[in-house]
Amino acid sequence: MHQYYRYIAPILCFLVFTSGCSRTRTVQKTETIMGTQVSITVAAASHEEAEAAIEAGMTEVRRFDAMMSLYKDTSEITKVNLAAGKGPVRVSPEMIEVVEHAAKISELSGGAFDVTIGPLVVLWQMRLKEGKVPSDGEIAGVRPLVNYRNIIMDKKASTLFLKKKGMIMDLGGMKGYIADQVADLMKRRGIDNALIALAGDIWALGRREDGKPWRIGVQHPREKDKTLTVLELSDKYVCTSGDYERFVIREKKRYHHIIDPRTGRPSTGVISVTLVGKQGAVIDPLAKIPFILGPEEGMKIVRKFGAEAIIVDDQGKTTSTEGITISR
Ligand code: ADP
Ligand code: MG
Repeated sequence: MHQYYRYIAPILCFLVFTSGCSRTRTVQKTETIMGTQVSITVAAASHEEAEAAIEAGMTEVRRFDAMMSLYKDTSEITKVNLAAGKGPVRVSPEMIEVVEHAAKISELSGGAFDVTIGPLVVLWQMRLKEGKVPSDGEIAGVRPLVNYRNIIMDKKASTLFLKKKGMIMDLGGMKGYIADQVADLMKRRGIDNALIALAGDIWALGRREDGKPWRIGVQHPREKDKTLTVLELSDKYVCTSGDYERFVIREKKRYHHIIDPRTGRPSTGVISVTLVGKQGAVIDPLAKIPFILGPEEGMKIVRKFGAEAIIVDDQGKTTSTEGITISR
């Protein structure tokens, strides 16, 4: 059986202008945090100011990783998951906020987006790693554990409780919330011009040091060296999810990491979604919906939020909103 695993990180590539002739200084740094390439670019009055802002931004991402990583025994999310079916766990206000955002998108998508997708994600990861796919019985066994309505949130006490034993909350589809938090931190520090990229989740704050908008290339989902379009963005958040970014081939079929809670299987039909908007905590989860509900229904929901979109289906057909030009 032919098997391979590929991981292509830079689905969105950004182009940074770093001429030294103006008075602002642009500094860029990249680190791997949460298994993700985190890249922060800051244009500030001095090199020192830019470096300090980048360090503060990275520290903020590490703080969220410590809180929201499923791979850390001590993270708040792990504590909530381990207490599933047992009792509520006290968490940080940010955990409450991110779950509130997630629940809103779950509600409006009829559960197509669901932060309690964890048991299915874990099952698929485990079986694919073994070179297999889960059996129908295994999928049917964990599917009832996926239901965001079984998250009990007590805002006053700042606690989260997963009602059923075995439930797993997975905030992997909410990285946009973290991007928002880093963008806010930059603004509080007086940094108006920065690019904050957590792999495919990017905040473009202000402009580049040459005064032009940030330029962000959206990769073609099947032709690695081709771009679908180059977006020029200023004070906008953009994210791309694709089936080409993290996937495994088993028995000639492609299995990727966005799961349809209704079937318990990786979604089919849509291969790439790029959304542009004003809030990562909303736009990132929203980007998963066209994968599950299809391009038409997905586009309807995306438009309700005033987001710009590029949706590519498995026939290579691209649908986009009026504000986006696609290179042909
Ligand atoms: P990236 O990890 O590159 O940011 P995405 O933004 O596409 O990738 O998010 C994919 C992640 O979203 C998955 O790894 C999983 O944690 C989560 N996820 C997958 N399917 C769903 C779903 N139906 N509802 C909510 N979250 C999901
Ligand atoms: Mg993402």
